[in-house]
Amino acid sequence: MAAKTMSIDTLVVGAGQAGIAMSEHLGKIGVPHVVLERARIAERWRTGRWDSLVANGPAWHDRFPNMEFADVDPDGFASKDQVADYFVAYAQKVDAPIRTGVEVKKVVRNAGRQGFTVETSDGTYEANRVVVATGPFQRPLIPAVAPTSEHLTQIHSADYRNPQQLPEGGVLVVGAGSSGVQIADELQRAGRQVYLSVGPHDRPPRGYRGRDFCWWLGVLGEWDAEVMRPGKEHVTIAVSGARGGHTVDFRRLAHQGVTLVGLTKSFDGNVVTFDSDLANNIARGDENYLSLLDAADAYAARNGLDLPDEPQARVIPADPECVTNPVRSLDLVDAGVTSIIWATGYAVDFGWLQVDAFDEKGKPKHQRGVSKEPGVYFLGLPWLSRRGSAFIWGVWHDAKHIADHIATQRNYLAYYDAPYPHAEAPHGESAIDASKLSELNLS
Ligand SMILES: Cc1cc2nc3c(=O)[nH]c(=O)nc-3n(C[C@H](O)[C@H](O)[C@H](O)COP(=O)(O)OP(=O)(O)OC[C@H]3O[C@@H](n4cnc5c(N)ncnc54)[C@H](O)[C@@H]3O)c2cc1C
Repeated sequence: MAAKTMSIDTLVVGAGQAGIAMSEHLGKIGVPHVVLERARIAERWRTGRWDSLVANGPAWHDRFPNMEFADVDPDGFASKDQVADYFVAYAQKVDAPIRTGVEVKKVVRNAGRQGFTVETSDGTYEANRVVVATGPFQRPLIPAVAPTSEHLTQIHSADYRNPQQLPEGGVLVVGAGSSGVQIADELQRAGRQVYLSVGPHDRPPRGYRGRDFCWWLGVLGEWDAEVMRPGKEHVTIAVSGARGGHTVDFRRLAHQGVTLVGLTKSFDGNVVTFDSDLANNIARGDENYLSLLDAADAYAARNGLDLPDEPQARVIPADPECVTNPVRSLDLVDAGVTSIIWATGYAVDFGWLQVDAFDEKGKPKHQRGVSKEPGVYFLGLPWLSRRGSAFIWGVWHDAKHIADHIATQRNYLAYYDAPYPHAEAPHGESAIDASKLSELNLS
């Protein structure tokens, strides 16, 4: 039997939050589309996170504009499954045409004719446009320094689920962004001896003067920052919604029993060496923390906001022993450490996307998600248009921009197809003749 070929105007790859937002906006402007998802809707929230994970932002903030969480207090933090359920409900609400269990294996541009041929695990599609919504965090990254030791269990934070999953013994957690710091805290509370390797980080206060940091970053325009500040490329953000939400405070973690160490530099057998940068990293994290308090105070004063003062937020406790006298080298076997968790971030993986949409380093080349390969769009990538782009509240707005771009392009093509002289300028609604569009839409 010949393999089936289906035709569609716009094909969206991935049904996480990005693919669902894209579908909502395409649906609103009447673009025939399909969303292909290799697993289930919001699969990464369902199975790609540890068991106890809750959203880093409160439910009033970490959501799409058009629907609230049904079962989470707006100031509370949705669990990972509540986030996944939210997106399933959202997809139903907007009637998103999602096909689950279908993996996109290859996309190539058609030669001498419009569009792309998309090979999937369930047949071939012909599509005029492809929106890549496969996530900002696809391939777990473990740095090359990782040792090859039979004495150690090593996993990436993407594969961490709970303390019981690890063999008895101490744990070295490498990386102190939101994942590393939350996992280290959970392990220590479960009775493990924990070493936490801390690099450069930002650590905004969970809340200040009665407002969550998400609110402060919003009113201060920080979520809308279009480019990362120079020198911040390797700086992670350490925030947590765990246990009702709290400010990440490395000194508190140390007083609780976690041993803080500097950046993990190298391994020689079972002996790990740490950089001498711990105190500096902690101090720079404090600077970031205090600078947000300053900016918040200035904003409140300038706008006459009647918010309660919170002077105690500026009290920074004394450095613990592990910061003043840091461990620079540790024999993991002697220290009883049996596991390493690499909370060291992710890379993207576009091997299946065989189009001219990348720069010489293989990074997607685009402007606000509109790639240099006409018809190919990226959505959900970090800093796609602004700081908020890879987050729930940011991706929805980027999807709208891409949908607008698609609508404009369809208008141009409608003009091309419309019999002269009836065609109008490609921008106005009147340029679209519905009968012409259905011809164009291949669907
Ligand atoms: C630990 C962690 C906690 C986070 N917490 C928050 C938070 O609290 N708030 C917040 O706003 N953001 C948070 N984020 C960031 C971001 O919101 C998530 O990473 C989110 O999952 C990104 O959504 P997405 O739709 O862009 O990508 P994903 O959720 O990764 O969805 C992509 C989808 O594409 C599918 N897919 C991939 N390749 C193919 C293919 N070839 N064919 C078909 N389907 C494919 C995948 O199965 C997946 O379902 C967190 C991220 C991590 C890692």
